[in-house]
Amino acid sequence: MVGRRVVILGSGDIGLIMARRMTLEGAKVLACVELMPYSGGLTRNIVQCLQDYDIPLYLSHTITAIKGKSRVEQVTVSKVDENRVPIPGTEIVFDCDTVLLSVGLIPENELTREAGIGMDMRTNGASVYENMETNVPGIFACGNVMHVHDLVDFVSAESERAGAAAADYILKGKVPTTQVIDVQAKGAVTYTVPQHIRVQNVEKSVELFFRVNRVFGNANIVVTSKGEKIAAFKREHVAPGEMERIILPLPLLQKADAEITVTVEEA
Ligand SMILES: Cc1cc2nc3c(=O)[nH]c(=O)nc-3n(C[C@H](O)[C@H](O)[C@H](O)COP(=O)(O)OP(=O)(O)OC[C@H]3O[C@@H](n4cnc5c(N)ncnc54)[C@H](O)[C@@H]3O)c2cc1C
Repeated sequence: MVGRRVVILGSGDIGLIMARRMTLEGAKVLACVELMPYSGGLTRNIVQCLQDYDIPLYLSHTITAIKGKSRVEQVTVSKVDENRVPIPGTEIVFDCDTVLLSVGLIPENELTREAGIGMDMRTNGASVYENMETNVPGIFACGNVMHVHDLVDFVSAESERAGAAAADYILKGKVPTTQVIDVQAKGAVTYTVPQHIRVQNVEKSVELFFRVNRVFGNANIVVTSKGEKIAAFKREHVAPGEMERIILPLPLLQKADAEITVTVEEA
């Protein structure tokens, strides 16, 4: 064990899971500290990794000082304002011997870049078509190298799609690009995957994945084309930590313009 009294910075799934793991290994996790006003992790992980072990979650807080000589001895945690700036006078001091940083995961894409594949600056991964093919014909991307997933089940589904499409590429050759729809993320929607849809390559429907940058209660996910709403999907809860999925049927795509937009509205 690296230490016995731990403060965790970051409440994404990894920070949450580490809080439980350190506890099960015999450490005392004093706090999980999160800069944003919401956790970046799955609700079930907040419950099963923090609440079940009485580990406090400090939202809108950050670590503002770490003290110690040969190792960590103390950290100071402060509340932040809406601009994420620490508020003087809100300091809480924890005597601890370990600070665990869990502050982000970005796809590692050296191979993607070296292959000259078009990247999406928002996901830090390859930009793909409906079948996981990149803009370099015959090269496919799926999983966390493309966008960070919360659940491995979605990674498995994506990889099956990419594998089947790679086999199709070998057997049938290139997919025609006569009717391509560019998918635009708008408002609170930070990105979509796929980013482009070749309509003639869609059998029945396309699964579209995306994330949002804030928490919504009752929400409508709205898809527009030529400024007109072409589809809407209701959700009871939408949050940055939870990847969203909508299914766009082929007839709807056939009616759409060369560009569709996905946005989320408060219901
Ligand atoms: C701490 C943690 C807990 C999680 N808990 C859950 C959970 O409870 N339930 C759930 O559904 N999901 C969970 N996830 C998410 C899930 O693990 C990921 O979504 C999934 O593993 C992503 O799969 P992947 O194959 O895309 O990437 P990875 O699992 O990261 O696999 C990529 C592999 O590629 C290898 N690699 C990288 N570069 C190269 C290269 N140049 N050449 C050869 N090999 C290379 C890597 O070494 C690695 O083995 C968790 C993730 C983390 C980090």
